[in-house]
Amino acid sequence: MSPPRVAVIGGGVAACSLAHGLRDSLASRAVSLHVFEMGRASGGRAATRGTRDDPGLRVDHGVPAFAALTPEFGALCESLVAADVLRRCDGDGSAFGVLRSSGTFEAEDAAGAPTRYRPPVGKGMNALCDGLLGGESTLANFTPGTMVTKVEPVAAQWRLTSKGGVDLGTFDWLVVSSTGLAHPRWRTTFGGEPPLVEAAAALGDTALDATLAALAPLQSKPVTAAMLAYGSDAAAAWASLPFFKAQVEADPVLSRIVVQRVSQSLTAVVLHSTHEFARSAAHVYGATSTAARIAGAKSDAGEEGRILDAMLVAAEKRLGGLLGPAAAMRSPAWGPHLHRWGAAFPDAPLLPEGRAVVPSARVAFCGDFVEGGEGRGGSVEGAALSGLRLAKALQREIGGLCGAD
Ligand SMILES: Cc1cc2nc3c(=O)[nH]c(=O)nc-3n(C[C@H](O)[C@H](O)[C@H](O)COP(=O)(O)OP(=O)(O)OC[C@H]3O[C@@H](n4cnc5c(N)ncnc54)[C@H](O)[C@@H]3O)c2cc1C
Repeated sequence: MSPPRVAVIGGGVAACSLAHGLRDSLASRAVSLHVFEMGRASGGRAATRGTRDDPGLRVDHGVPAFAALTPEFGALCESLVAADVLRRCDGDGSAFGVLRSSGTFEAEDAAGAPTRYRPPVGKGMNALCDGLLGGESTLANFTPGTMVTKVEPVAAQWRLTSKGGVDLGTFDWLVVSSTGLAHPRWRTTFGGEPPLVEAAAALGDTALDATLAALAPLQSKPVTAAMLAYGSDAAAAWASLPFFKAQVEADPVLSRIVVQRVSQSLTAVVLHSTHEFARSAAHVYGATSTAARIAGAKSDAGEEGRILDAMLVAAEKRLGGLLGPAAAMRSPAWGPHLHRWGAAFPDAPLLPEGRAVVPSARVAFCGDFVEGGEGRGGSVEGAALSGLRLAKALQREIGGLCGAD
């Protein structure tokens, strides 16, 4: 008998952690996992932006570094450090702190700081998901560039169809690792009913209905990111700033400035907006955002320029006393480019863990929008822990699955 087939929609940290948690079951062929990701690669909000203009340039335009507060996630991160997928931020010169309104930088107290991780030198944050998937020896079937737009219950299985109308097959379990497909927000972004809501109406499973009802009030906080890269002297000037990631104190436009040294001659800079500023610019997407790439949403180039300019003005003001003219803020080697994260962080109420697995409908949810009790929703840690928890739950359920011959 062939192993039970599990389809996972989305290939971010949660989905890749699920694959990691199931690696023994995958190796013994007790289960077969199929991950469909609409982006070009795994990662989601932990992705790395590259460019054809300069193949050496990598910009972590989502999460730049993350904390591990629980022993379980800490142990996972340490195993990824050993595999050269991550590095610890302590002692590697990655300073964190606050850019005060006065324009001075105040480093955080290292003794009270959490253990944080970021990609090793020469790699981007996308190394995290690649590493969780198992690198080149991945046991999960990973299909990038495929947006799932239809899920149908068919004879106790789930049939998936892509945006291009391709039949992706039938599966015994459906795992949803992004709220999109199941949330009312789908109506405004893509039009029509959210695919899983439509499928649930046909299925009539009260437990699934209750989960979807619990998910519906979830809100999201947006972030607009401005990405730039500097070469030669400017690269060195930016890299000499006393921080890797700084919170911007009391600024209406910027919340964080992240400086990523890519190589000796290239430094990437990412400016993160405040949620309020991103909300005020909700109609400006940038060419790589989901709304632009998938839904075809277009934002006016002039508007995009104005948003980027406002972010650069705010950065100039805050960094004026720290950055010399050699930094050439207005003359980057690449950029500025804008990327809108419409749902950078989930906002309350998160989906209670008790509703995340629905055996009667063979549907499960994982992601940073699931509240696992550790209070780590909206973080890489929360996403990873939800994927690991779901791996255990699915292993328990697998005994009850009947794979087709
Ligand atoms: C700017 C920014 C800064 C951040 N800073 C931090 C930080 O400092 N510390 C921290 O811990 N966290 C931070 N985060 C949050 C962190 O990145 C997320 O919590 C985490 O990456 C979420 O992982 P996930 O797997 O739950 O979701 P996602 O990464 O969103 O993964 C879901 C995936 O599903 C895919 N998908 C969605 N719908 C479909 C579909 N229909 N078909 C196919 N694929 C689909 C998406 O493309 C995506 O890849 C930040 C995020 C952003 C954007």
